[in-house]
Amino acid sequence: MTSANAHRHDPTHPVHARRRSSSRYPVEVIRSDRRNKTVSARIVDGVIRVRIPSWMTAEDEARFVDDVVERIERERRSNAIDLDARSRTLSDDYGLPYASSITWSKVQRQRWGSCTVGSGDIRISDRLIDVPPWVLDSVIIHELAHLVVPHHGPEFDRIVQRYPLHERATGYLMAVSDRLNALPPSELAD
Ligand SMILES: [Zn+2]
Repeated sequence: MTSANAHRHDPTHPVHARRRSSSRYPVEVIRSDRRNKTVSARIVDGVIRVRIPSWMTAEDEARFVDDVVERIERERRSNAIDLDARSRTLSDDYGLPYASSITWSKVQRQRWGSCTVGSGDIRISDRLIDVPPWVLDSVIIHELAHLVVPHHGPEFDRIVQRYPLHERATGYLMAVSDRLNALPPSELAD
């Protein structure tokens, strides 16, 4: 006799694998028999292998796996973007100074980018990992422009408007910040 129960996942089975539509990698969850509290995740042979303690609830497992997959995928996407190369190309294309360094910032939640004018160090919010390249370029140009003109004003505007997609990118970022319920647009690209 068959019943719906026959197809239910057996919770005592130590391993099950699934593929998430949002993830490039299949995910394999291993429930440890040992009485430890360790959770871990790493990529093994193209599979995200997640280890969780056996006592973890299915709900906690789902949340943890989602977090882990998101973190790994974001890491992969940010690694795929060569910020240094992009920044150098934009400096060349728009006649701007080179940044001393340009890095992703995880802590920058209220601004898209920031620039330390004295040292030439630029930080870009990692919320921009997933925006289109032409939007990211606009934020990089904004920060590079601060190496010429530290403060916002007509002279600063003339520089950032050398980028033909400046207005369009500003609109795009305003829409994103609305979604994120972030700061008003005037603060966003400082
Ligand atoms: Zn600014």
